[in-house]
Amino acid sequence: MKANTYHLWTIGCQMNEADAWRAAAMLEGAGYRPVEHARDAEFLLLSTCVVRQQAEDKIISRLKYVEELKRAEPSRTVALMGCFVGFRAGAKDELKARFPFVDLFVPPSATGELASWLAARAGGEETDASSCDGEPPPLPESLAGGRTVRAHLPVVLGCSHACAYCIIPYRRGPERSRPADEVLAEARALAGRGVKEIVLLGQIIDRYGLDLGPGAMRLPELLRRVAEVEGVMRVRFLTSHPNWITDELVDTVADTPALMPYFEIPVQAGSDAVLAAMRRGYTAGRYEELVARIRGRIPGVGISTDLIVGFPGETEEQFGESLDLMRRIDPDMIRVAKYSPRPNTLSARTMPDNVPPEEKERRRVAIESQLRKMLEAKHAPRLGQVEEILVERIEPNGRRYGRTPDGKTVFADGCGAELGEVVRVRNTWTGAFSFIAEPV
Ligand code: SAM
Repeated sequence: MKANTYHLWTIGCQMNEADAWRAAAMLEGAGYRPVEHARDAEFLLLSTCVVRQQAEDKIISRLKYVEELKRAEPSRTVALMGCFVGFRAGAKDELKARFPFVDLFVPPSATGELASWLAARAGGEETDASSCDGEPPPLPESLAGGRTVRAHLPVVLGCSHACAYCIIPYRRGPERSRPADEVLAEARALAGRGVKEIVLLGQIIDRYGLDLGPGAMRLPELLRRVAEVEGVMRVRFLTSHPNWITDELVDTVADTPALMPYFEIPVQAGSDAVLAAMRRGYTAGRYEELVARIRGRIPGVGISTDLIVGFPGETEEQFGESLDLMRRIDPDMIRVAKYSPRPNTLSARTMPDNVPPEEKERRRVAIESQLRKMLEAKHAPRLGQVEEILVERIEPNGRRYGRTPDGKTVFADGCGAELGEVVRVRNTWTGAFSFIAEPV
């Protein structure tokens, strides 16, 4: 174990990664430096997700390993943060009883606990936990200075929608929009550290500002302002709920060059009965209309979606409606999840998880193989076309990794562009999930 080192382990969504980076930035501010292997670290930071049982299982198995490390070196500190901890009063005591070797329990998007611990360690005054939220720098020093091209910026914390299946409102608390000046200050801080692409985050980001009262800035204006920040080349935002995408939002994306033509709009199911049981608040028809409206206004826009298969009671026919809807929508990506009952959610409490695991798997595979075929066909005409990519990563073999404005992944060979540069490349191969390209 090396003194003043930390190791970050993170699973789950972009929001978790953003929370984890913020915590890492605080550790680095206190003199810790990152190490590649957990066994070398004095401080172990675990950022967790519980959206599906599978994620929770991964945390438990990681914690077994961490327990061994702690037993070998009891002076290590173990911090568990994120949705596994949650906000509920009493949760920490229950977790402490289960995992006595964990020193710190940090709720999602709330780093006050860690700030207090660091202050106590430094021998300073204990800080008021809540006052620290939002203050730490958004990017650890080890990732700054041009090393990180794309960063996430949470703008709506929590969620109040309460979809029947979703644990997030129980773990991340109610919806809270961050004040616009705080978001803009953070966007400037990210740009100042070399970040070129900022992805604004929220569970239902298109509701940004609604909880701040009448007259508060809404998402279109916030996006325009972030796009104006010096040094920021590209801006994206996710996730959108179909019910809250306004014409103004679509127009803003269409008319602001730095706003990438890309929407993430989970649909979750193609059957109206399943959508109603999920408490999603729209029909498949309305979702289709919305996608048509966006495509009509923004040619070449990328539309990505999420789909759950095997929701309680989902019949073969209803699943067929999901396949059909995906065929009609022809999205640019589908993230398919097999339904997983989560504690306290409406579906787990009131609806039997009655689609057998092998049937859920069959439905997942059916969606994914249809998606692969659809994307291969959709991308084939892009062979030989020129794409504009922002170089986000340089692979060990020199390949440049970047994304097109509509969110397609491109690997460029023989390209000498630096990290953070926007370059034009010509596709020499197109597949379902990525393109290979050469310099123009
Ligand atoms: N807030 C977004 C939304 O409007 O759906 C995304 C939230 S969640 C982090 C990401 C995805 O996980 C969801 O879109 C959904 O497809 C999936 N998901 C959430 N709860 C699930 C569950 N109980 N079982 C399976 N998948 C689930």
